[in-house]
Amino acid sequence: MWSGPKYAKHYRDLAEKMDVEVRTSTTVLGWEDSLTPALSQREKGHTLEFTSPSGLGVVNAQAVLLATGVRERPRSARLIPGKRPQGIYTTGSLQRFIYQEHLPVGKRAVIVGAELVSLSALMTLMGAKVDCAMMITEEAKHQIEFPYVAMKWILADILSRTPIVTNARVTNIFGQKQVEGIEITRKDGTKQLVECDSVIFTGNWIPEHELARMGGLQIHPVTKGPVIDRNFHSTVKGVFVAGNLLRGVETADRCALEGKWAARGMAKYLEIVSTGKSPVSQ
Ligand SMILES: Cc1cc2nc3c(=O)[nH]c(=O)nc-3n(C[C@H](O)[C@H](O)[C@H](O)COP(=O)(O)OP(=O)(O)OC[C@H]3O[C@@H](n4cnc5c(N)ncnc54)[C@H](O)[C@@H]3O)c2cc1C
Repeated sequence: MWSGPKYAKHYRDLAEKMDVEVRTSTTVLGWEDSLTPALSQREKGHTLEFTSPSGLGVVNAQAVLLATGVRERPRSARLIPGKRPQGIYTTGSLQRFIYQEHLPVGKRAVIVGAELVSLSALMTLMGAKVDCAMMITEEAKHQIEFPYVAMKWILADILSRTPIVTNARVTNIFGQKQVEGIEITRKDGTKQLVECDSVIFTGNWIPEHELARMGGLQIHPVTKGPVIDRNFHSTVKGVFVAGNLLRGVETADRCALEGKWAARGMAKYLEIVSTGKSPVSQ
């Protein structure tokens, strides 16, 4: 078991040891070659455009690994009507508020979602001494599978006594400055008002596939992540994909292993490109 900072440091140290430049606060905006998608053009590699505090720039590479991850679906993407008061979070923003900014997030919360990350949100709330009125899911049952279901028993059932309300969804949010309550609607149409001062939208993941789409990678209709072969090579020559961009969502260990496997595919690809042999399968 490692803490997040220790885990991050391990990989940062590895990158430093291998003399890999790491550019933070830098966002890749797109592909310089996206308007000329002919594969023959891409044999020369790819040019990515980025923006950073020191301005715009480009970087060229023969092989690119896309590992842009996933996002939790926020309130706006779930089309939930109502006011826009303070107190509406995703798990990510809740954890940033509490652990990074040390800001108060309220006294009584509702967690929307009942999957593994929803338990992370619950644990974060418990640590900040915020009560949780309920976890609510539109599904018929929670999606916390073995072995993690033991965490649900300990955190939700025993320690915090948080009920999981199934077959129900949030249909309104009330409050002027701060959230004052929500309306939930059950599958049979009955409505209930729940008093709370914060609402945490958890999970319901969307792969961060903007760059992949702009690069012309084929996207799988079910996972919404790029299609890859066994070498983690996408449908665009020289572009590899690993991690949660492939689908929502797996745990960090699985994503890290995929990074390793994709790196092997990339090394093989670069060797073939540099020796001029025929390229690996697409
Ligand atoms: C709130 C939250 C809590 C979680 N808790 C756990 C947990 O406790 N344990 C666990 O195993 N998993 C947890 N997960 C799942 C976690 O996301 C994965 O385990 C892991 O981080 C996925 O790794 P990844 O490399 O695929 O993507 P990420 O770690 O999400 O990394 C994607 C990176 O790509 C960058 N990026 C995206 N677009 C661009 C762009 N255009 N230009 C430049 N950079 C870009 C992002 O800034 C980010 O740094 C959690 C997820 C969330 C959201």
